[in-house]
Amino acid sequence: MSKKKILILGAGLAGLSAAWHLQKKGRDCQVFEQEPEAGGLCRSKKVNGFTFDYDGHLLHFRHRYAFNLVNKLLGCNLKPQQRNAWIYAFDTYVRYPFQAKLYGLPPSVIKECLIDFIHTSRNGHRKKKKNPDFLTWINQAFGQGIARHFMIPYNTKFWTLPPQKLTCEWLDGFIPVPSLSEVIEGSVEENKSQFGYNARFWYPRQGGINQLPLAFTRQIKHIHTDCRVREIDLTKKEIKINSGAKEKFDYLVSTIPLPEIPQLIEGLPRQVDTLFKELKWNSIFNLNLGIDKEENSGRHWIYFPQKELCFFRAGFFSNFSSCLAPSGRSSLYTEVAYSKARPIDKDNVVLRIKQDLKKTEILGKNDTVCVQDTNDIKYGYPIYDKNYSRIRKQILKFLSKNNIVPCGRYGSWRYLSMEDVILDGKRVAELIYNHA
Ligand SMILES: Cc1cc2nc3c(=O)[nH]c(=O)nc-3n(C[C@H](O)[C@H](O)[C@H](O)COP(=O)(O)OP(=O)(O)OC[C@H]3O[C@@H](n4cnc5c(N)ncnc54)[C@H](O)[C@@H]3O)c2cc1C
Repeated sequence: MSKKKILILGAGLAGLSAAWHLQKKGRDCQVFEQEPEAGGLCRSKKVNGFTFDYDGHLLHFRHRYAFNLVNKLLGCNLKPQQRNAWIYAFDTYVRYPFQAKLYGLPPSVIKECLIDFIHTSRNGHRKKKKNPDFLTWINQAFGQGIARHFMIPYNTKFWTLPPQKLTCEWLDGFIPVPSLSEVIEGSVEENKSQFGYNARFWYPRQGGINQLPLAFTRQIKHIHTDCRVREIDLTKKEIKINSGAKEKFDYLVSTIPLPEIPQLIEGLPRQVDTLFKELKWNSIFNLNLGIDKEENSGRHWIYFPQKELCFFRAGFFSNFSSCLAPSGRSSLYTEVAYSKARPIDKDNVVLRIKQDLKKTEILGKNDTVCVQDTNDIKYGYPIYDKNYSRIRKQILKFLSKNNIVPCGRYGSWRYLSMEDVILDGKRVAELIYNHA
């Protein structure tokens, strides 16, 4: 049995999955987590009878292995659901995805979207330019009407940058591209057929998304909470924790967000330090509300492309699981994206969100907000600009030379879902197992 010492930094889903898979292979490892509990972004909190996640967190599966693992961990607490998602545009609600559900929009908008979609199809939109920027991809895939009325404003709001500044490296099937007949069908009648990888989702029947990390945690031996790693000594191969304690390592699995790494490594070479400084991301301000009335529409979430409204998405926790709100009440979340390129006024953002919830009639004039909870999520989505790949590759090369194995959404700096980070933890565990 190998005596190599494996440390894991961070007990979000990625760190937990890496530890779980290492343990399954008979390898001992220690997990260090700065918070008082494991789970990272995949946690839930209880506030006056409401259970709120850190923003909406729904499980989507593309891989049988991940589904089987989560299914085994959560057992009968895992519930499948059919997505009921909407878009608010032109003062009305239409079904998601916009590009396949134009029905209900003003006739002039439908006409423009259809004509441009037909035009781009005729011009062979499937013959894609190699490595297009995101704006070019949008125009090629959907034509200028759908681009102008939804894709460009929504994505500019979400990424906080115009699509021409982004690459398509993150797409990976996230945005469904319907056929011409599907677009036509969806513009003449309300078409309830589902599109895209997230047409179905899974969510715990009880307890919020936190049940998933909790189920992992119960099976992992050495998780040290309230242990913030404050230094990584590359020469001594040692980490220092906030208590002052030190631990040696042979392999260090890091799920700590990449931009935080330079503050932990003393004497980082200047050219490497510069690379870390070039990383870009957006942040998410999340307001969760408990409302003193039931929400009977059954909607799960809604997208908001217009720049006049501050949030890009709102969703209804209590429609994922009625156990998340006390009887006769409901709960919702809103998400506002911001970054250095597009800052927000944090003193006024809660007020703005509530005003916009009223404008969109999600909150009625007489509704009472009984509970509110905010989460300012610093690292939301890594931004895939033209420098992204080059910078990330060089950073990962430097870390790998020093036996640091990046893992997870922020540790490896990729647009990864919960399923993806569970699989990433498995990949890292196998990599170390095969080397150590
Ligand atoms: C707004 C938003 C909505 C999302 N919605 C969904 C969704 O609906 N479905 C989906 O599948 N995915 C969703 N995701 C993605 C999902 O949250 C992530 O893929 C996943 O939770 C990332 O897990 P992780 O372990 O890589 O990172 P994290 O959860 O961030 O875990 C990293 C851990 O490291 C710890 N840490 C950091 N620094 C230190 C330190 N110095 N010392 C010790 N510990 C440290 C942190 O406290 C944290 O616990 C969403 C993400 C965001 C931002």
